[in-house]
Amino acid sequence: MIKVCKFGGTSMADGINIRRVADIVSRDGARRYLVVSAPGKRYSGDVKVTDLLYAAHRELMEKGALGEAFAKAAARFRRIVDELHLDFDIEAALNETAADIVRERSEEFTASRGEYLTGRIMAALLGVPFVDAKDVIRFDGDGRFDPVGYTLIREALKGKRRAVIAGFYGADGDGKIKTFSRGGSDLSGAIVARAVLADVYENWTDVSGFLSCDPHIVRAPVGIPRISYRELRELSYMGANVLHSEAIFPVREADIPIHILNTFRPEDEGTMILPTARYLAEAGRMRTVTGIAGKKNFTVINIEKSLMNTEIGFTYKIMEVLVRHNISFEHLPSGIDTMSLIIDSEFLSHGVLEEVRRDIEKAVLPDRTNIYSDVALIAVVGHGMAKSVGTSARLFAAIANAGVNVRMIDQGSSELNIIVGVDNGDYERTVRAVYEEFFRET
Ligand code: ADP
Ligand code: ASP
Ligand code: MG
Repeated sequence: MIKVCKFGGTSMADGINIRRVADIVSRDGARRYLVVSAPGKRYSGDVKVTDLLYAAHRELMEKGALGEAFAKAAARFRRIVDELHLDFDIEAALNETAADIVRERSEEFTASRGEYLTGRIMAALLGVPFVDAKDVIRFDGDGRFDPVGYTLIREALKGKRRAVIAGFYGADGDGKIKTFSRGGSDLSGAIVARAVLADVYENWTDVSGFLSCDPHIVRAPVGIPRISYRELRELSYMGANVLHSEAIFPVREADIPIHILNTFRPEDEGTMILPTARYLAEAGRMRTVTGIAGKKNFTVINIEKSLMNTEIGFTYKIMEVLVRHNISFEHLPSGIDTMSLIIDSEFLSHGVLEEVRRDIEKAVLPDRTNIYSDVALIAVVGHGMAKSVGTSARLFAAIANAGVNVRMIDQGSSELNIIVGVDNGDYERTVRAVYEEFFRET
């Protein structure tokens, strides 16, 4: 049995928490490979070490030398080593790191030093080898993970009973440090799990798993004990950000489950994320809806033209306009004579929306275009929806009873997901109404 364990920023935030992590790891001999994040927030309003390091890089660029931000990051590490009573030469490590940052002058290198130092400290605490991600996590020319890294990881870990690997970064073929996008240690953990063909990828964080809905909108929503990769992908793409939305790809290839667990309540059941086929095969009585997630600030461009379905290249011409403006779209629900483009409003500021509308009108000569701005999208996700009769009737009745006007509906072809667009101002009310309908049931 091999478990790969990733510990997030809160779990590594101070000496006391890092001790907890060491306890969790030593309690189970299968927890062999650890991937660690940089220290995160200790309390609300605190600053993550990674953010301090981004600020340190800005200071270096502006003033030509490291300043206050680096000093704050360094103080976090000094304090951690002190709290752990660890025999570790933190001054030497910090001096060397500062010199490296000044020499490299790269933002990604600077940001990566949080995980690098945390990894070294964790390895010293556990008395196990430290594996520098620069030697094993390889990025290709496009800045994406290069699968050759799987072999490098396997070779580096061969014969090691336990090891600590720094999260968030790796290096390209020339040895230059590259980082993933924010929250990327989840990806590092998934890659290591895939490389060693772990039995489970444990992702330790500060909540007891995935909740059925954003806890900032619904008080104490029920937890999700089991969820499929596909449901998770839909929910995390729509803003339920417990796990980096790309973290499932490496483990999915090898059918490795992800177990979300809480460092501060290790006995809680957490959430088990399972390969879809296995989830469906093992699911007993399934809830109709597994989870609800959403995001604000989309724009709907509604295009109407009689007989558009018979016009060859209609969609193609619209896509061409989007490509020309370098805009990606989220959804494309269509009827016989209508089509809607759902676009993140960020792409459309500073007059771009008007230009896009004009170009679409020129390209396809529609009968009418309507624009709804300030739209929020809410995704209602669950394999159970396809199995229960009347799910959409319940969903829309609940929304109507809350007095909310629906701007757009898109039922994904998978029957796994219904997406509803409402005004930004109605977002929270709608999420609560949908939650009440599907989760306050027995
Ligand atoms: P880590 O630093 O361990 O990687 P993150 O902050 O990235 O942790 O992710 C955990 C956080 O995700 C939780 O503290 C919680 O605020 C947030 N979160 C967002 N949506 C959900 C949800 N549906 N269920 C649980 N937590 C959620
Ligand atoms: N430390 C990095 C960040 O804050 C990566 C991570 O925590 O996963 O984004
Ligand atoms: Mg995270």
